[in-house]
Amino acid sequence: MLSVKNIRCSYGNIEVLKGISLKVEEGQIVALIGANGAGKTTTLKAISGILPITSGSITINNVDISREKPYNMVKHRMSQVPEGRQVFPELSVLDNLLLGGYAIKDKKCVNDRIDNMLEFFPRLRERAKQHAGTLSGGEQQMLAIARALVSDPKLLLMDEPSMGLSPKLVGEVFDIIVDLKNQGITILLVEQNAHMALNIADYAYVIQTGEIVISGTGHDMSANDEVRKAYLSE
Ligand code: ATP
Repeated sequence: MLSVKNIRCSYGNIEVLKGISLKVEEGQIVALIGANGAGKTTTLKAISGILPITSGSITINNVDISREKPYNMVKHRMSQVPEGRQVFPELSVLDNLLLGGYAIKDKKCVNDRIDNMLEFFPRLRERAKQHAGTLSGGEQQMLAIARALVSDPKLLLMDEPSMGLSPKLVGEVFDIIVDLKNQGITILLVEQNAHMALNIADYAYVIQTGEIVISGTGHDMSANDEVRKAYLSE
């Protein structure tokens, strides 16, 4: 479904992605793990068109999206849950969800999707009129996920969805990710929590200073000595 081939990206004259290649097959959860500053977020930004690539290519279902603008990603049925949730704190939960459907012309379709989301996330329904800034960290993460789902994506890019959450909520968020996969959504998951990510991932890549250094099935990676020492604190 998603194919990233040898992409390079720079901030100014500092190259932070040095030829990243990865694949996400339809129906999979693919994890991208790595230390702080390795280039995980930058990889997602490159895929979603927020940051231009200097070389390489990105395709979705064989369509080249290497130079596509972020606001056109909805056309390719791709959506992103950004790092740090980035909900609009002064807007209500409902208005945050409406923004998730901003690029979609058929507003009836958007409202139906929002209804589905409020069904899937009952806590958001209870808090629909509340300012998003008053939600707990876990609820804000659910809102960020729901907002990304309003555009009915086939491919969801998730940037550190477990960040800053209590262990119980981390478990809930990972359950939701598996649920989404079971509903047919393909997921590229960036995570610091390598242990949890490898547990649910069909396939995983380790990124180190802008390069993929190891990849394999979630199962094989959990058993890999190098991965265990460096990323699973074992
Ligand atoms: P983290 O887990 O800490 O979010 P990451 O793997 O997502 O890390 P990136 O955010 O992709 O890492 O950063 C990769 C490198 O690019 C880092 O060295 C970072 O300092 C640098 N970088 C990130 N954003 C910018 C920016 N806007 N301007 C300059 N350098 C940046």
